[in-house]
Amino acid sequence: MPTHQPRRTPGPRGERFAVLDPATGEAFDEAPDQRPDELDAIVERAHDAWRDWRADPVARTSALFAAADAVEAAGADLAPLLTREQGKPLAESYAEIARAAARLRYFAELDPVPEPIADGRPVRTEIRWRPLGPVAAIVPWNFPLQLASAKFAPALAAGNTMVLKPSPFTPLATRLLGSVLSAALPQDVLTIVTGREPLGARLASHPGIRHVTFTGSIATGRAVAEGAAASLARVTLELGGNDAAILLEDVEVERIADRLFWAAFRNCGQVCMAVKRVYAPARLYSQVVEALAERAKTVVVGPGLDPGSQLGPVSNAPQLARVERCTARALADGARAAAGGHRLEGPGYFFAPTILADVPSGSPVVTEEQFGPVLPVLPYERLDEAVEAANDTGFGLGGSVWGTDLDRAEAVADRLECGTAWINNHAELSLAQPFAGTKDSGVGVAGGPWGLYGNLRPFVVHRPEEA
Ligand code: NAD
Repeated sequence: MPTHQPRRTPGPRGERFAVLDPATGEAFDEAPDQRPDELDAIVERAHDAWRDWRADPVARTSALFAAADAVEAAGADLAPLLTREQGKPLAESYAEIARAAARLRYFAELDPVPEPIADGRPVRTEIRWRPLGPVAAIVPWNFPLQLASAKFAPALAAGNTMVLKPSPFTPLATRLLGSVLSAALPQDVLTIVTGREPLGARLASHPGIRHVTFTGSIATGRAVAEGAAASLARVTLELGGNDAAILLEDVEVERIADRLFWAAFRNCGQVCMAVKRVYAPARLYSQVVEALAERAKTVVVGPGLDPGSQLGPVSNAPQLARVERCTARALADGARAAAGGHRLEGPGYFFAPTILADVPSGSPVVTEEQFGPVLPVLPYERLDEAVEAANDTGFGLGGSVWGTDLDRAEAVADRLECGTAWINNHAELSLAQPFAGTKDSGVGVAGGPWGLYGNLRPFVVHRPEEA
């Protein structure tokens, strides 16, 4: 579990902590360091607000549509702030905001459907869906706004209220989003809290919370589940991944190389469902390494606010240290850097996009989640070996298979032990699809109608048939 937390600064506006710009490594603003005991009153207000919010689905739908419009209208304020604290290129910040608005509209239109049960008995049995109560959401720093919306859009649409905590590395855009949304939503329906640990731990274990929905690392997810066990709140966990991409013998390397590269390097590789390992047939191995290395060497790395930047810095200092550590270890284990392999000179947390060849399969860059701009490429002789290696992990988020014969690729994809498998693509997600990792990558289902029902409980009514 991470131990680094941003620096605390007492001041006239109460306890606050510094927020750093990863492009410079300098603090540029502060956020409130809320105390865990403040949560009691916040959760109580969320509970009070729930009474009206759950009662009127029509008013809810129009509030959520108004919220989507407000998010879009605030794009020019939200996007630069998000880039400043997270590091990603500005266009990607705008994409996060567009996704958040689209998600609000998607869930605003979803209605839980009452379901009759016909089992031959002379009773009329019907399932009606009820909201759970105040929901706690805890999200990481890689997609602060998009992941916040993945929590609040289904939970609020289902008639719950929410207390949401962003990562202390990226609190500012989420706080601004909260105030933008407050123009459209009734008071206390969505409350953003910011602060350093143990704020999240207290939120996850708060007795007034009925559902804890968490996105982040596996280690913290376990701690969250333990905390929520105290109040027996429902738990949804979206955790880490170590997705493999398997290239087949008939793959056209130059044709797929751009897509494969960006599937690994978008958001500087800080994507739960990024390609984190590539398995290439031995015959094509050098060609694949060279094609990826060429792209890694020519991609434009720079501050996210510079219009030409295609990749920003790594998002925070502990993450940069992790990326440096696992790259250095791979090189010490005998790997070769076909591109990059080192931090970039100058201020900020920039790391050269790195392609690693000849990596021993037990090296942590292969077995763990590097979560950065570093991609190991591994050769295989027999396809079964590649499938076995792809599945030989505690992670089970996503995976992909790349080749020309789509039926064959699909047959291989079908053997992957993960929640989503793509062919000739990776990490493309529809709002309407279920999103669920297997093994250590998650508990529960988000996305699509499953995400809505994950925020509801069945309430069953039995009545005798009329005589
Ligand atoms: P993290 O687990 O360190 O932190 C996630 C959140 O939990 C942050 O808000 C953090 O402040 C909070 N937190 C820390 N300790 C806590 C505790 N004891 N109790 C409650 N909350 C606590 O993760 P991170 O480094 O911010 O994010 C990176 C991880 O997130 C990666 O493993 C990545 O794969 C994962 N992730 C998963 C998905 C998914 O949908 N599966 C999506 C994005 C990121």
